[in-house]
Amino acid sequence: MSERPPFTGAGSRRAAGSVKQITSFSNPLVKEIKALVAQRKHRQRSGLFVAEGLKLATDALSAGWSVDMLVLGPEARESAAARDIAATARARGATILEVSTPVLAAMTRRDNPQMVVGVYEQKIMDGAELTRALKADPAAVWVALDHVRDPGNLGTILRTADAVGAKGVILVGETTDPFAVEAVRATMGSLFHVPLARMTRAAFQEMATSWPGTLVGTHLKGSTDYRAISYARPTLLLMGNEQAGLPDDMANACTALARIPQAGEADSLNLAVATGVMLYEIRRGDLTLDA
Ligand code: SAM
Repeated sequence: MSERPPFTGAGSRRAAGSVKQITSFSNPLVKEIKALVAQRKHRQRSGLFVAEGLKLATDALSAGWSVDMLVLGPEARESAAARDIAATARARGATILEVSTPVLAAMTRRDNPQMVVGVYEQKIMDGAELTRALKADPAAVWVALDHVRDPGNLGTILRTADAVGAKGVILVGETTDPFAVEAVRATMGSLFHVPLARMTRAAFQEMATSWPGTLVGTHLKGSTDYRAISYARPTLLLMGNEQAGLPDDMANACTALARIPQAGEADSLNLAVATGVMLYEIRRGDLTLDA
C-alpha cells in the first residue's frame, strides 16, 4: 500500500479524501487507531477518538462532526449504506481505509469488530461556548456529573440526556474520558447529539451562585422527595460520584437536594439509573408520545 506519514497531532492535516488498502498489522495507521482505542493520553494529545459502527458514523456525519478516517471491513465494502457514508466522509476530507477483518479486529481489540470504524475529532464546549449555550435557552434542562468515573455510566447518561432532550452534559472535576471507546459505545450515537462541557468544581460553584432556575442536587441524605420539587427552568441536575456521592461543598451549592425513595436493601441506585429517574421527572410535563 502507499503509506502516509505517521500521525503527528491534532493540528496536522493529511492528504484529504484518499482511499488506502491496508493489509499489514504493523501499518502506522493501524498502530495509531490501536493507540486511540487504548490510551487516554493519546486521545488527549491528538484530539481524536474512535467510534465503532455504521450507525455512529451516520450520526456523526449528520450532526456535522469532523471525520478524520473511516475504516471499512470487507462486509462494509459490500453494503450500499456503508459505501454512501464512506463517500460522504471522503467528500469531507476523510481518509478511507479498506482493511481485512483481522486487521479491523486488531485495531479495535474486538473478536467480532464492527465493519465500519470511524476516527473523529473531539468536540467539547469551552467556557464561552457554554455561557452562550446556557443563555440561549432559558427553558433548558442541563445535567452536571461530579467526578463520574465509569465510562458505561457516562455513556448511558449521555444517551438518556439525549432521549429527554436535555441541552447538554457538564463534566465537573476529574472524570472518566467521554471519548473512551466504552463510553462512546454506551452512548449509542448520542455523543454526537448532546453537547459536552467541562469545568472545575470551583467554576461550577461560581456558576451555581447565579443559576436563574432550579439547581437540583441528588443525595442519599436529601430530605426532599424528588417528586415534590417544582423544577423551575432552566433546570440543572447535579449527580454525584459512584462511590463518594456529592461532597458537602457541591451539595451546598444546590437550591434543592432530592432523594429518590427506595425500598429493599440496596444502598443506592446506580448513577445512570438515578439520572434517568430524575430526568424523566424533571421533564414529566414536557414529553409526550406524539413528540
Ligand atoms: N455511596 C454513595 C453515596 O453515599 O452517595 C452512593 C453514590 S450513588 C451510587 C451515585 C449517585 O447517584 C449519587 O451521588 C446520587 O447522585 C445518585 N443517587 C443514587 N441513588 C440515589 C437516591 N436514592 N436518591 C438520590 N440520588 C441517588
